[in-house]
This record gives sequence, C-alpha cells and structure tokens, in this order.
Amino acid sequence: MLKNSITFLGTGGGRVVVFRQIRYSGGLWVNIEGINILIDPGPGSLIRIFEFGFDPRDIDIIAVSHRHLDHCSDINAVIESATDSKKRPLKLLVAPDDVTGGDDPVLLKYIKDGIERIEHTEEGKEIEFGNLKIKAPVKHIHEGAKTFGLQFSTGNKTFVYVPCGKFYDKMLTGYPENADLMVFNTTFPRPVDGYSHLSIVDVEKMIKRLKPKKAVLTHFSIPMLKADPIKLAKKINKTTDIPVVAAKDGMRIQF
Ligand SMILES: [Zn+2]
Ligand SMILES: [Zn+2]
Repeated sequence: MLKNSITFLGTGGGRVVVFRQIRYSGGLWVNIEGINILIDPGPGSLIRIFEFGFDPRDIDIIAVSHRHLDHCSDINAVIESATDSKKRPLKLLVAPDDVTGGDDPVLLKYIKDGIERIEHTEEGKEIEFGNLKIKAPVKHIHEGAKTFGLQFSTGNKTFVYVPCGKFYDKMLTGYPENADLMVFNTTFPRPVDGYSHLSIVDVEKMIKRLKPKKAVLTHFSIPMLKADPIKLAKKINKTTDIPVVAAKDGMRIQF
C-alpha cells in the first residue's frame, strides 16, 4: 500500500558511495495521506522513480533539503518528466533559496517556468498545501549550503526528514517529539572531525530524546557500510526501545 509510506529510491551518502553508485541516490518517495512528495532527488532519481514503479507525473511536491548534488542533481530531469515539459505544472517546490536562485542555482531557469509555486525554506516557516503543513524546524550546520530539516504533518500523521549536518544541541529540541516516522541521514558510524555529517552516536541521542514511533537510518558512507548499518540500527533499537531500521535501496516502510 502506498498511502502513508516512504520508499527509498536511494540510501547512499558521501562522495564515494554516491558517485561510484555503491548504493542508489535517488532520494525518498513519500506518500502522506495521498499526497506524493519526492525528497532530495539525487543522482539517478528519475531512473529509480521508474525502476520502483512510480510515475513522475504523480508527484505533487518536490522538497530539497540542500543544494549538494547527492541531494538534488536530478531536480531538473525529474521536473521535466513530472510536468511533461511544462504541460502540467508541478504544484509545489520547497527548497532553500540557493537551490532556485543566487549566483549558482541548481534549478535551471527554463525548468523553473514549469513550477506553479516555489516556497523557500526558512527556519520556523510553515508552508500549507491543502491539509498538509510543511515546516523547517531546524536549520542545519552544513558546509557551503543552506540546509534545513523538513517536517510534514497532516491531522493524522507526522513525518520528519533529518538531512545531513553537524550535530548540535538544537537538533534535540527543535525537532518534534513522537513523530510517526523519522528518517535520519546517518553518514558515519562515529563523529568525524571536520565533517558536518551526523553519526550513529548523534542519531542515537536524537532518537532517545525525540522518541519517534519509528526511525530509519539512511545516507550511508563507506565507513558506515563497513560498520554494518543493520547491526548499528539494532543496537540503537536496544538502547532506546524504539523500532529502528537501516534502509535498503527500494525498501518501503508504512507509517
Ligand atoms: Zn550535503
Ligand atoms: Zn548528503
């Protein structure tokens, strides 16, 4: 069943895993109460959308956490496909303003014309789309790119996406507690100096504090794959008593 589910069009993170395609990197297809949201369409997103049986024309919203290529390189190709070359506009794009404008936008100008509504993410801003509310609860610290966590809520369900970023205390208080599902970009098995990415240690702290009903780890680097994400997810499950799983390419989870 697609309603209230997420499907992983990729689970790779970090330069080697993504740009050698050791894992896919197409982002996440989220369905919340019937609304289809594509989050972070990285390299190969368009291909994976078809591979896993979706149709880009069914996308209602594209949401991008930040402008790094592993999170948005396919944005133009996906929008071209979703809009049948502008014949049917994309209803909503949510992204930081350095994705859509500025000196070096990722979104091409001629593709931009195919989008009905663009909302720029800002910390605390609430965007409404029918009965769905989209929020950016926490601005992340992440090199060279404005980066925001994303919260999607309807009356019934809350889904939270925690993208890449350096761990800091606001991540423990800014995100909502008891979400139905949280997805964490968990790049490393332990904190690595000089890299603004979350590690298992950070994510464990967040899960303990925020108590989502379910948590999924994704965006794995080589050290993470070597450490075995499944084993690490089980460990957090034991210490927090919250169901935690490690994502696989193509995996679908209901919430
Ligand atoms: Zn990044
Ligand atoms: Zn990343």
